[in-house]
Amino acid sequence: MIDLPIYSPIEEIFNPLFSSKGVQLFIKRDDMIHPFISGNKWRKLKYILLEAKKLQKKHLVTFGGAHSNHLLAAACAAAKFGFSCTGIVRGENVENETLLLCRLFGMHLIFEDRESYRDKPALFKKHFNNDPEAFFIDEGGSGPFAATGCSELIDELTEPYDHLFCAAGTGTTAAGILSGINRKSMATKMHVIPVLKGSDFLKQEIENLSNGASFEFHSEYHFGGYAKTSDELLNFIKDFTSSTGILIDPVYTGKLLYSIYDLISKDYFVRESRILAVHTGGITGVLGMADRFKF
Ligand SMILES: *Cc1c(COP(=O)(O)O)cnc(C)c1O
Repeated sequence: MIDLPIYSPIEEIFNPLFSSKGVQLFIKRDDMIHPFISGNKWRKLKYILLEAKKLQKKHLVTFGGAHSNHLLAAACAAAKFGFSCTGIVRGENVENETLLLCRLFGMHLIFEDRESYRDKPALFKKHFNNDPEAFFIDEGGSGPFAATGCSELIDELTEPYDHLFCAAGTGTTAAGILSGINRKSMATKMHVIPVLKGSDFLKQEIENLSNGASFEFHSEYHFGGYAKTSDELLNFIKDFTSSTGILIDPVYTGKLLYSIYDLISKDYFVRESRILAVHTGGITGVLGMADRFKF
């Protein structure tokens, strides 16, 4: 059976800023779904794994950077649901905590230089051409199966929210959630925080994947680009984590929460707004920047 019970409660975050602006912030704890198949990564993998099973595939092949939450999630999910698994890692051979965990879950790692890494179907062909049991899963698990899984988050909401915020890498998660909002004709406004620079293509892609549904795209919170950070962001993460007991990371959820605090302080929301942030999980972003935090 390929399934995980979804445990993703919604918690309210309290802060004097919110009371002074008359808004409420809630956080949907997708990070609690599983310690390693964390957050949106389970939602994205679910229908992909079901498809692999249906096609009687036995070996998952997927892709990611050396600190990829997706690689770790895929490694753990493969172990849990009886697949073997290869992770093709971008860049030179390295060791780090994330890859150690991947290996412990039984993932076989292949390192490919940045140039070769661009063409993932070619790499799949190169290493698994004659293997009928191998199953290709794109980097981050993007694609329509992943979006369907993410849209199910909306079915779990039992209270109304005026705004829903989500961080975007490939944008699949945001597109899935947006189509869930649309499917249910909810009045909730979707907000997307791209974590990379020059993300206009991402905006277009989310529009395409979600049939032109409307959303707000806040492209000024990338902090210099993907996995780029600053002392301001790291300090925000320290404050947030130490005052809420909720771990956020510099790559995705730190930028997400920072944007919401910033917009609240700039009076972006009318009073009595109820804002929901999706905690998409991920600790590898913290591990990957261990040496950037100063205490
Ligand atoms: C992978 C990841 C995302 C990005 O999801 P996309 O569907 O690629 O936009 C967001 N947050 C966390 C914590 C992630 O690990």
